[in-house]
Amino acid sequence: MTIFTKISHRSKQFHSFARLTIKQQKTLTIKIQIDMKKYICNVCQWVYDPEVGDPDSGIAPGTAFEDIPDDWVCPLCGVTKEDFDLIEE
Ligand SMILES: [Zn+2]
Repeated sequence: MTIFTKISHRSKQFHSFARLTIKQQKTLTIKIQIDMKKYICNVCQWVYDPEVGDPDSGIAPGTAFEDIPDDWVCPLCGVTKEDFDLIEE
């Protein structure tokens, strides 16, 4: 599966992706690859999804896990980012 079909499967907001210039597509693709990494809490199995963010804790949708402040904690069990693992897809 190419990155482009993967994107179109994953996110309806990119339905106009093909109309962008190649440069815009590359920029967008890089951003998506960074932003779409999900992380799972080792303690309670809660999953951080960058598409959703954690609005209850002030984390806006579209925020990469790496960009979350270090003082953020798991909304379910209260552990810090250090107790989260990257979900490999
Ligand atoms: Zn947790």
